[in-house]
Amino acid sequence: MSPLTELRTEAAGCVRCPLATGRTTVVFGEGSPDARLMIVGEGPGREEDLQGRPFVGRSGQLLDRLLEQEAGLARRDVYITNVVKCRPPGNRDPRPDEIDACAPYLERQVALIRPAVMLTLGNFATKLLLHTTEGITKLRGRSYPYSGTILVPTFHPAAALRGGATVLAGMRADFVRVKEALAG
Ligand code: URA
Repeated sequence: MSPLTELRTEAAGCVRCPLATGRTTVVFGEGSPDARLMIVGEGPGREEDLQGRPFVGRSGQLLDRLLEQEAGLARRDVYITNVVKCRPPGNRDPRPDEIDACAPYLERQVALIRPAVMLTLGNFATKLLLHTTEGITKLRGRSYPYSGTILVPTFHPAAALRGGATVLAGMRADFVRVKEALAG
C-alpha cells in the first residue's frame, strides 16, 4: 500500500473531531499522487459527503472549468483536497478545533505529494496555510512561498457562484498565475 493510500485508510476511520458524527463519508482527496498542482478547498458539501469525492457539486464544475480554460489543466492532472475532510452540518463554516484536528492530514498529504504549486480556495485554506488572519481579498493577487511550494491564494468558487463578476475575473487571473508558476 502506498503511503498516501495508508493515510487515506487511516482518515477513513477518523474520530478526531465532532464532524465524524454527522458525515456519510470522509472526503480525503483525489487526483494524481504525482500532481504538480495541489488544490485545497474548505470542506465537503452535501454532494461531496454523499459521493466521497471533493468538488463534485456546482463549485467543482466551476473549478474544473477555470482549471481547463485558464491553466490548461484537466482534473486528472491535479490533486484536490480540503481543509476539513468531513462535511460540517448544514454546510456551516468549519470550527477552529475541527480545522486543528484535521490539519495533520493535510500536512501529510502535502509532504507525500510534494506539489510544486498549491492553490488555496477561499479564506479557510489560505489562512490556515499562510498562518494569517488577513482575508482572501487582501491576500490574493500574488503568490507566497509555502513549505517548498509556491502558494497561490484565490477566492472560493462558491463566492463566484454567488454572483460576483469581479470575483470571477480575479479567479481567472489567479488561475493564470498558477499556470505561470507551474511553468517556472
Ligand atoms: N467546497 C469545498 O470547499 N470543497 C468541496 O469539496 C466542495 C465544495
